[in-house]
Amino acid sequence: MIDSLIPKLHNMVLTDKYEAIEKWILEQKELAKQAGSEFFMGIPMNWYETTTFCCENLHVFSSYIKSEEKGNVCPCCYATAWLCPVTTTEELKLKLG
Ligand SMILES: [Zn+2]
Repeated sequence: MIDSLIPKLHNMVLTDKYEAIEKWILEQKELAKQAGSEFFMGIPMNWYETTTFCCENLHVFSSYIKSEEKGNVCPCCYATAWLCPVTTTEELKLKLG
């Protein structure tokens, strides 16, 4: 699903969904920086308020699973969990689209 969104996002070919979500997160951080947001541990402070995580497979969740090999992962698909600035799957799809 996200594969079809990748060219729209970056105007370049990305090899996988992980890179796409990583790049999106970086872009969101950059926007927050430009908006003058305060940061803590490299993440905008207001992202901690909602404590919402997302993964490359467009799952949105409030608690992750700790994995020894992969760090914090999605409880649905075990992909890397990212603290993110959206609160619903619909919002994430909209922002990525
Ligand atoms: Zn997932």
